[in-house]
Amino acid sequence: MGYTMNAARMDEIFNALRETYRIYAPKKVGKFIRYGEVKSVGEIVFDEKSHFSPKEVFYPIVQTLLYFSENDVRESEVDDTPVILFLRPCDVNGIHRLDTIFMENGKQADNFYQRLRQKVKFFLMECPESFETCFCVSMNSNTTDDYAVAVGKREDKLCVEVKDETFAPYFNAEESRDFTPAFVTENKRTVTVPAIERSMVKDIHALDMWREFDDNCIGCGGCNTVCITCSCFDTTDIIYNETSRDGERRRVWSSCMLGDYCTVAGGHNVRAKAGDRMRFKAMHKLFDYNARFGKGNMCVGCGRCDMRCPKDIHFSETIDKLAAAVETLKEGKES
Ligand code: SF4
Ligand code: SF4
Repeated sequence: MGYTMNAARMDEIFNALRETYRIYAPKKVGKFIRYGEVKSVGEIVFDEKSHFSPKEVFYPIVQTLLYFSENDVRESEVDDTPVILFLRPCDVNGIHRLDTIFMENGKQADNFYQRLRQKVKFFLMECPESFETCFCVSMNSNTTDDYAVAVGKREDKLCVEVKDETFAPYFNAEESRDFTPAFVTENKRTVTVPAIERSMVKDIHALDMWREFDDNCIGCGGCNTVCITCSCFDTTDIIYNETSRDGERRRVWSSCMLGDYCTVAGGHNVRAKAGDRMRFKAMHKLFDYNARFGKGNMCVGCGRCDMRCPKDIHFSETIDKLAAAVETLKEGKES
């Protein structure tokens, strides 16, 4: 069902929703647009892309997993208030990638991820026009039907489509209006996704293109931090004081682009050069994920990493360069 209302009415609906849900959406935080709790629709930034992804709402930057003492281990508690998350189609698709990594990459789903993720209901932000750095169409992640409610703007009104009947009572007193969200159909930025075959992996490893990143990339990890599909974390045990055995286990976001990410016991760093770390990231996003799960590319083309990099390294250009190199490798094999 579709409805329309002005912002003041939507705020009243928000007030009713907030009796049950916490509402998170992209909003201005200093000079950035990032996800935070909102109380009114006016706080939501619709007309610019958020610098940070929605993942931190249900996959926190720092999360205490367990508390331990000499004789006891206790799982941390969860605030079970359900969450409404406003987000764009690329991010819905990105979250599907995160779900796969955390819940299908082993014999058991990651309980610490699942218990937060399952509280989330998607409110899709209609995204009919591409932003400068988006390449979601090339990555086949510009559309989705996975949402409880879709929200868009028409003239000075808000329009909603309610798919999840749980939310119908909040909207069904509003004026009816046909509304289904429009999706981006083309981006200014397009990429060619490399058609990598498993037999090419060694040759790709040896490509000269990775060496350009050895000097250019400073290993800050900013690209991973803003990425909706990056999931790596460190696990650390914190002891409360020197003589105590009481403490907690935390997981903290990490980044495969950091210089010491691949340092192993004994001090050897298996990917000491920035170019090797870029190769690892690119292959994970464009080959390994699909080879492991058969679910397409990991990168959804949100373009946030291209916006974030302080060295103007554009992952979209890396995708194109890799695609060209892969074609050259194929031609070399054929001739
Ligand atoms: S465009 Fe960059 S930030 Fe967005 S999903 Fe792809 S790798 Fe991650
Ligand atoms: S944001 Fe740029 S400089 Fe920083 S790790 Fe990523 S590619 Fe390297």
